[in-house]
Amino acid sequence: MAALKSALGRVASFGKSIIENANPFATRAFSSQFAVSPRLTSHHIVILGLDGVHTDVLQRLMKAGRLPALTRLRYRREHVAICYVVNSSSVLFAFFLRFRCLMRPYRHPCVRSKEGTFTMRAKCNYPSISEPNWAACIYGTDPQSLEFYDVLETYPAFDHLEEKLQFESIFSLVKTYVPHSTTAAVYGWDLLRDILNPRFVDMDLAADLKLSHFDRDEWVVQQTVDLLQSDDPPTLLFAHIDNIDEEGHEVGILGQRYEDAIISADAQVQRVLDALAHHTHTTLFVVSDHGRARRTDGRDHNEFSPEAINIPLWVSGPTVQAGTEPLHANIMDIAPSVLQLLHIPQPWCMRGRPIQHVHATQPHPQTH
Ligand SMILES: [Zn+2]
Repeated sequence: MAALKSALGRVASFGKSIIENANPFATRAFSSQFAVSPRLTSHHIVILGLDGVHTDVLQRLMKAGRLPALTRLRYRREHVAICYVVNSSSVLFAFFLRFRCLMRPYRHPCVRSKEGTFTMRAKCNYPSISEPNWAACIYGTDPQSLEFYDVLETYPAFDHLEEKLQFESIFSLVKTYVPHSTTAAVYGWDLLRDILNPRFVDMDLAADLKLSHFDRDEWVVQQTVDLLQSDDPPTLLFAHIDNIDEEGHEVGILGQRYEDAIISADAQVQRVLDALAHHTHTTLFVVSDHGRARRTDGRDHNEFSPEAINIPLWVSGPTVQAGTEPLHANIMDIAPSVLQLLHIPQPWCMRGRPIQHVHATQPHPQTH
């Protein structure tokens, strides 16, 4: 019996060595698939990136009531009011409903998809530019670990990150662990393609570069809405809105066009929220990748200053503790939060950790 076990072990290790020698990345896929059995989940994730938002300008616009969608993502009080108005057929019932919303905010269907935790003090990483920080978002670790050094003329792409440095992205992990999962990336800023491995992105939708930056964002939002309203929405969807950063480079944060770009993005966020209205099993992350530099009135953003490093972060979903502010959040914490929500074990290569107030979902059979 012992001899039989030993022989079987030798056969298994020989098979694994063939796979390792053929393709170094396949080793991790092999071990990921068989070391831990996949968990079933029907939860969906949407990450909406707003490129280059200065938190001071954002705060001013929110206070002035110019950003209703992004403000709605933040507060629970408004959702209580929505429940009160929409569902009350009598004063007594309204009071009862209001009481239920306040006492059981995570179970009431009116507030399930509209809860939010929000901070303007989340951090991006230095260098405070887009490639390193969107990579930090997708790979769940800091740009230093990903070898995005400031002196390089070109930054590492997915083949270097995944094959040489052995990092795994949320796209590869979702495809490996969630049975029948689909992933999508929608963007108008073409450099994102460098960090997205097409092997793990089922729907790689890039806008026509001949369009203006604003029109590319409109295209991105329409594609996102179409995907969310389809019969089979993706398990993981990453969408990137770019025009805020472009206007920042053009006119700085003092220009009206910069404010207008954030207000337009708010309307685009509203369209995504409308598309998510009936998605009770979806968590939405909205995040920026960097702020704006103090020295240039925001025309640039690669600066080690609070204005460039502080970023806004919203998370909304059925297991998010609403009306809270997460402490010590970083853009690299989004990937570990996604893994926690989908019951995927966090690999060693991810140095981030789940965002405070974003709790694990209950595993249940997959419906899509
Ligand atoms: Zn920029």
